[in-house]
Amino acid sequence: MSIASAPFNKPSADLILQTSDNFQFNVWKVILMEASIVFADMFTLDEIPHGSASDGAASHQAPAVKLTETSAALDGFLRMCYPPPHPTFTSIDALRSVMAVAHKYQADGVFQVLKEALVRNFAATQPVLVYAIAVYFDLANVARTAARHFLAVPSPAPPPPSELSEDINVAGAYQRLLAYRRQCSDAISDMVQSRLAWLPQGAWQFLTCTHCPPSAVTSFYPGSSGSGQPLPAHAQVPRMWFWNHHERMGELLRERPCAAALKRPSLLEQGIVEVAPTCGNCRFSAPRLLRLFNKELGKEVRRRIAQVSSPWFSGPR
Ligand SMILES: [Zn+2]
Repeated sequence: MSIASAPFNKPSADLILQTSDNFQFNVWKVILMEASIVFADMFTLDEIPHGSASDGAASHQAPAVKLTETSAALDGFLRMCYPPPHPTFTSIDALRSVMAVAHKYQADGVFQVLKEALVRNFAATQPVLVYAIAVYFDLANVARTAARHFLAVPSPAPPPPSELSEDINVAGAYQRLLAYRRQCSDAISDMVQSRLAWLPQGAWQFLTCTHCPPSAVTSFYPGSSGSGQPLPAHAQVPRMWFWNHHERMGELLRERPCAAALKRPSLLEQGIVEVAPTCGNCRFSAPRLLRLFNKELGKEVRRRIAQVSSPWFSGPR
C-alpha cells in the first residue's frame, strides 16, 4: 500500500481511504462529512470498522475504508473537498472521473463546481464529449450548451476513441448531435431562402435606394418604408451590393448553422468595399446598415435554433 501525497499523508488524520490501485489516503472525516451525504451517513451510522488498516501503515489505528475508486480519481475528488488550492482540470477524462466520484458520494457542491468547469473548460473545444458526459449524468443544461457549441464547429468529426468511450456512449452522442445540427441547418436554410421575409421593419436603404444596381431577386420583405406607406415595387428588389452580402452570410451559415458564424466584424468589409463604386448614397450608410442587418440576422438565427426540438435524453446512454 502506497501513501498518497500531501495533504493526504498525515498520520494524525482520523480516517484511511484505500483505493483500488492500493493507495492510502489519510483524511479528516469531518471534511468528507461536510462535502458528501454518503460519507456523512456512513459516519453517522458508524459503519466504519476500527483499526483495520492493512500493512500497519497507520500506526494510530485510524479506521479504514476500502473504495473501488482509483487513486487519481479519489485524489482529485478529495482536493475539491479540501481547502484550496483546488485542481484545475486540463483533461476532460480526469474531470469526468472526478465527477463520477462526486456523483456517487453525493457531494453536491463539489459536483456543481465540476459541472461548471466541464462547461467552461471543454464545451467549446470538445462539445461531443461534454454532451456525452452531460447525457450520462442527466445534465440537461450542460447538454444543451454543448449542442449549441457543436453547431459552431466547422465540419465536425467524431472524437477519437479515448478512455471515456468505455463508460460513455460517445459515438451515440456524436450521431445525435449530427441529427440536431441537420435540423438546425434546415431551419437556417429556410430562413436564408425566405428572401428577407423575416427582416423586421426599418429604414433599410439597401431595399429603398433607387440609385444603385438591383440584384436579380425579388424579396419577400414584408415591412413598409418606415413612414407607414407600403414599399414601392422597386423596393422589393434588394440592391446588388447588399444581396451579395446576404448570399455570403447564407454560405457561412451553411457551414456553421449558428449565430457565432456571423460574429467577426471583418465579415462586413467586402460589402462595404463593393458598395463604394456603385452608389454614392449607399456607401455612407452601408457600414451601419450591414452591422444592423447582421445583428438582426443573428437574432433570427438564434430564434430559429431555439425552436428546433431537442430530444436530449432519448435513446440509449
Ligand atoms: Zn444605393
